[in-house]
Amino acid sequence: MNSNPIDPTVDFDASEEQCKEALFAAKWPRGYFCPSCQHTQHYLIRTRRHPLYECRTCGHQTSLLAGTIMEGTRTSLRQWFQAIRLVAVGINAKQLMARINVTYKTAWLMSHKLRHAMTKADAKTLLTGSVHVQDAIYGGPFSHPSNSPHAHDQPVLAGAEVDEQAQIAYVKMKQVDKSLLKRRYPDRELGEDFVGQHVAMDAQEVFISSRPSKHRYQPLAKLMRQAFRWLSFSFRGIGPKHLQAYLDEFCFRFNTRYAATQLGFLCATTRTITYPQLTKRSFQTRRAPYPIVHPKAKFFRALSPSPKIAN
Ligand SMILES: [Zn+2]
Repeated sequence: MNSNPIDPTVDFDASEEQCKEALFAAKWPRGYFCPSCQHTQHYLIRTRRHPLYECRTCGHQTSLLAGTIMEGTRTSLRQWFQAIRLVAVGINAKQLMARINVTYKTAWLMSHKLRHAMTKADAKTLLTGSVHVQDAIYGGPFSHPSNSPHAHDQPVLAGAEVDEQAQIAYVKMKQVDKSLLKRRYPDRELGEDFVGQHVAMDAQEVFISSRPSKHRYQPLAKLMRQAFRWLSFSFRGIGPKHLQAYLDEFCFRFNTRYAATQLGFLCATTRTITYPQLTKRSFQTRRAPYPIVHPKAKFFRALSPSPKIAN
């Protein structure tokens, strides 16, 4: 294998062979090792469509695609890498279908598999440092006279890690299960659950502004509006079933500097998800079995004219 492979996520016209080399380099950055016995010598079997590596010690065979997001695919790696590059920038399935010449169903499935890799990567990261948590409603009317949820409401809780320059360094947006709502907006307990699941215990400060507190961390409110506008304009709105996957995509792009290169690496190291798993999965918020109170959690007191913090 080429020791310095080109990155096909950068070169849109990379050949199938170059894509195989790039996938190999991302999957085994320190060279091949047997997943069964960790031996580093292999025989290469090229009779299949994708290369097969047979361990010289134990005979274990593994394919280039095993354990990657592309496992089991019939689409060429060239098209996959083109999709990685396009999805990293942001594209809907219909546009992807036309750009890489696949069916709509294939484009939809590829996009969702790539989002799955983003979701898995996000799950390994916790917010830390200075963290702000607040909610917003996607889909429902801006002003709704009743305090009870509107049929089109999709409540979302978001957390922002703020750096020393007062910029958002990392963001997470998580769909809230509507059946857990007592009124239109997620309450303080749901905010605490979010913090329990997504904020590191060593975070320096955690601010939860649950309504009716008027205090909002404006950069996060703005970012949530931006995410919702993107969902409406690029996809003509997203229903509750897949909303979480799209929110994870938006956050991945915001959080990742070299999104295409990073997504290529995630594809090489994330197990795939099948069509039945994708369509059956549920992102519903789970309540913690016992209340989690973050040691640094502070709450903005309801309706305080200037933000006053309650413990
Ligand atoms: Zn082996």
